[in-house]
Amino acid sequence: MTSADTQSVSETAAVSPWQDDAARDLTRNVGDRMALFVRGEGAYLWDAEGRRYLDFLAGIAVVSLGHAHPVFVEAVSRQAATLAHVSNYFATPSQLALAATLKRLAGTGPSGRVYFGNSGAEANEAAFKLARLHGRSADGTVVRPRILALKDAFHGRTMGTLALTGKPYMQEPFLPMTPGVEFLDSTIEALEEAMDDRVAALFVEPIKGEAGVVALPEGYLEAAREITARHGALLIVDEIQTGAGRTGAWFGFQHAGITPDAITVAKGIGSGFPIGALITFGAAGDLFYPGTHGSTFGGNALGTAVASAVLGEIERADLLTNATVQGDRVRAAIAAIDSPLVAGTRGQGLLIGVALHEPVAGAVVAAAQQHGLIVNAANDRTIRLAPPLVIGDVEVDEFADLFSRALGAVHDALLPDDTDPSEVSA
Ligand SMILES: *Cc1c(COP(=O)(O)O)cnc(C)c1O
Repeated sequence: MTSADTQSVSETAAVSPWQDDAARDLTRNVGDRMALFVRGEGAYLWDAEGRRYLDFLAGIAVVSLGHAHPVFVEAVSRQAATLAHVSNYFATPSQLALAATLKRLAGTGPSGRVYFGNSGAEANEAAFKLARLHGRSADGTVVRPRILALKDAFHGRTMGTLALTGKPYMQEPFLPMTPGVEFLDSTIEALEEAMDDRVAALFVEPIKGEAGVVALPEGYLEAAREITARHGALLIVDEIQTGAGRTGAWFGFQHAGITPDAITVAKGIGSGFPIGALITFGAAGDLFYPGTHGSTFGGNALGTAVASAVLGEIERADLLTNATVQGDRVRAAIAAIDSPLVAGTRGQGLLIGVALHEPVAGAVVAAAQQHGLIVNAANDRTIRLAPPLVIGDVEVDEFADLFSRALGAVHDALLPDDTDPSEVSA
């Protein structure tokens, strides 16, 4: 390297060292990072310059207790100082305790079983393999080669879960996909029409989070339960984004009062610690047999202890009720914002989609960040909100103020046609 090279590197570094580091050292599988966060507390984040942000994304519905919650900190520290990992040749008390808790919260009854992985995709990979096992007869013949999933639903980015994800633009660079998956319109009629006795499973999100917080049609889960049961197919509900209390119930399917064959969870159950799980109900729990699946880290003592503490705190502080109450307050606050950009809200509890009349979600996200508010563009016409479940009136009021100012800024900057001509000429 010449001295001129060295100089230009250090000069650039002085201007924006972290952007350069990120551009040089990280794979380019996502776009430019939007900020460098160094610290968090509750619903707030601080960047490297000391600016404070209200975090209404929570790491995409992950940090359910908010940042640096004392219960989380204590659980990580205590378990790290006790026992972190022993492999799945062995059990630990924290793993058994979390399995029992997840069974209780999901309402599986005694026959429920839990498989632990480390992410949502891993939970769905396990569910995919569960579906394949269900599709074989006793002699190993594949009698149910078909798996159904919904168009525009999201189930993960690994090769198995990508095959379940009904977004052609995500699959296209990685073709060919694992075979057997068919994508349906999200209607009861489409399900009724597609279903037969060669279907192993239907995968469904109670609310399609990545698609822009889109609810299923009224009665869909109830009908899906009846139709899958009639044909002997598994109903597998992806609760990775909707679980851990986010919608005001422990899991989204519980609003419909059904019993699925399996659910997958991740995101909010660890409040920032990477953990995922497949939870089976009834006979589906007998499908896996020794040697059929595994994960070195899955169900480690550290992650399971943290998730137990997180779920314990969600229960103790009744954050399900808080999700409902504050979710309603957020929706009311948005309804009260006088912006021609806002078309309305979708979602349940503290999983909220703000529908926009114009494809300006990216600009709204950027303007919000400039105003000290973190939100997300689920697509170009939807802002997704998934704040920590611990938010109170103060955070919601601050959100309303910052969000309305961000919307105002975008409206003024991007849609000058709507502005008063006298203002423009002035
Ligand atoms: C986030 C998400 C996943 C994937 O989880 P990862 O932890 O990113 O692998 C799968 N399904 C749904 C519904 C999700 O929201």
